[in-house]
Amino acid sequence: MLEIRDLTVRYGGILALDKISITVPKEETVILVGANGAGKSSLINAIIGMVPTAGGSMTFEGVDLAKVAPSMRAGHGIGYSPEGRRVFPTMTVRDNVLAGASRIGRAAQADVYDKLATLFPMLRDKSDDLAGYLSGGQQQMVAIARAMSASPKLLLLDEPFLGLAPVWIQQISDAIRQFSKSGVTVLMTEQMAVPALKVATRGYVMRGGAILREGPVAELRSAALAEEYL
Ligand code: ATP
Repeated sequence: MLEIRDLTVRYGGILALDKISITVPKEETVILVGANGAGKSSLINAIIGMVPTAGGSMTFEGVDLAKVAPSMRAGHGIGYSPEGRRVFPTMTVRDNVLAGASRIGRAAQADVYDKLATLFPMLRDKSDDLAGYLSGGQQQMVAIARAMSASPKLLLLDEPFLGLAPVWIQQISDAIRQFSKSGVTVLMTEQMAVPALKVATRGYVMRGGAILREGPVAELRSAALAEEYL
């Protein structure tokens, strides 16, 4: 579904991604694990067009993304939840989530919200609360649900577990797994390899803007790799 070949991203003299290649097959969940500064956000931001590329190619469902303006990429079915649980603090939970589904009618929005509330039950209990008053884990759920509400074909999640307690990581993992079962392809990044590898089917380990290792998650979970990575 998404083919990235020899992608290079630079910030002035800093080489953030050095000719990396990644394949995200349809209906799989692919994880990119790597420490701070590995280049994970640069990759996600290049896919959505938020950072310019300095070489290589990205093809989504056979379409060259270089020919799709960043503002049109969501319309092609690419959804995105940024690092750092960004919610609109003075808007209600419901309005935050449905901000991702603004192009559909009210009845369809109600359906979308109900479906998302089966993944994240807190959406039902707290729909009228202001998002700014939620806990960190709940805000992250709202941010992810907003990306899901656009009904993307490919969902990009940048460090969804960042700074969260295990109880939230567990709930968010379950929701991502459930969502992907509805036929959605997922590409997520994470620093925390252990929970992330439980959600995904395939993975890449990144370091210093390069791919260190790739394969099915069972292989990446091996103790040898954990040692090398940690
Ligand atoms: P983190 O977990 O901290 O978000 P990351 O794996 O997502 O890390 P990136 O944010 O993609 O990594 O950063 C990759 C490299 O590019 C790092 O060396 C970082 O310092 C550098 N970098 C990222 N954004 C910028 C920027 N706007 N200007 C200059 N350098 C940047």
